Amino acid sequence: LKNISILGSTGSVGTQALEVIQANPSLYKVVALTAQSNCELLISQALKFTPELVVICDESKYAAVKEGLSGTSIKVLAGEDALCEAASVSSCEMVLTAIMGSVGLRPTIAAIKAGKDIALANKETLVVAGELITALAKEHGVKIVPVDSEHSAIFQCLVGEEQNPIEKIYLTASGGPFRGKNTAFLSSVTKEAALKHPNWVMGAKITIDSASLMNKGLEVIEAKWLFDLTIDQIDVIVHPQSIIHSIVQFNDGSMKAQMGLPDMKLPVHYALAYPQRVESKFPRFNFMDYPELTFAKPDLDTFRNLNLAYRALEQGGNMPCIINAANEVVVNAFLAGRIGFLEMSDVIERCMEDMEFIASPRLNNYLETDQHTRIFAGELVTKHFLSI
Ligand code: MG
Repeated sequence: LKNISILGSTGSVGTQALEVIQANPSLYKVVALTAQSNCELLISQALKFTPELVVICDESKYAAVKEGLSGTSIKVLAGEDALCEAASVSSCEMVLTAIMGSVGLRPTIAAIKAGKDIALANKETLVVAGELITALAKEHGVKIVPVDSEHSAIFQCLVGEEQNPIEKIYLTASGGPFRGKNTAFLSSVTKEAALKHPNWVMGAKITIDSASLMNKGLEVIEAKWLFDLTIDQIDVIVHPQSIIHSIVQFNDGSMKAQMGLPDMKLPVHYALAYPQRVESKFPRFNFMDYPELTFAKPDLDTFRNLNLAYRALEQGGNMPCIINAANEVVVNAFLAGRIGFLEMSDVIERCMEDMEFIASPRLNNYLETDQHTRIFAGELVTKHFLSI
């Protein structure tokens, strides 16, 4: 029985992880659950899975959660700081980080310091502070098993290849709902259109990131840290069917790809069970449904975010932290109807130019950069909003 804490249990990955756990009650036990603000779902999950601890980040919902769980022995805490407690519950062996955004950084650090393995679904943490996180994990002998489908694919391809140098990797990208569209088209797209991902069912933030290709940019940075690669070892290839989840090319020219239907439950299931594989009842792939798997180059002139992410990775230091924070702000602004789709890249680029660059940041620098960039990006959004 593996004891698991889930940070972000009411989100897309969190709920799918609980489905996997529910289907395998003899393998997993939930010891902590956390949610941002969805207290109704959190309460019903807690009543069903009876963890030791439940955390609601939105402190105004504390009374409701406490009330909903009265008569149980489940401990209830509120506030962002309590995420670190959920990440380091003493009975916990693995923490699934399924919260969205750089808010995942501190609880991930707390989990690693407490010696918990990480099932990493919060890519922003590695984007913001990949160097720090991977060094800390090494120091504490903690395994980081990626849940992001592309990185899970690379991870699976590398099992048994520990001694063999990687020549390069290909991260596959579906291209999102706007694949093949031009700038004129993108200038007036709505959030409803951007939220319709052709293949994957995911939360709102990552779905917008997929439409703008920022998701792939963040994944390039995530891959650099997870697999210790240089920029020119990481390539992105558009593969609209999302069947090949990513590819490793070794130095003998041989390539390994990991394939499967596009369903987040597969990489979640793999990460929880690792190093085992556990039988599942998920639908199986049928070749006749996919007579063609196709590949294309990403359109970097139209989808500028991917280039911005490569540039941030090249500059290093706190630059990936800057683009991540700016991106979190502009995605919220786009979802709120405050800026257009293409303006998201404009604000991010302006933040990269204007924020203070720190070549060798420490944890405090990351936290400050994150905060300052959010304020500056918010001002840029507001200024634009007023000037319409
Ligand atoms: Mg992904």
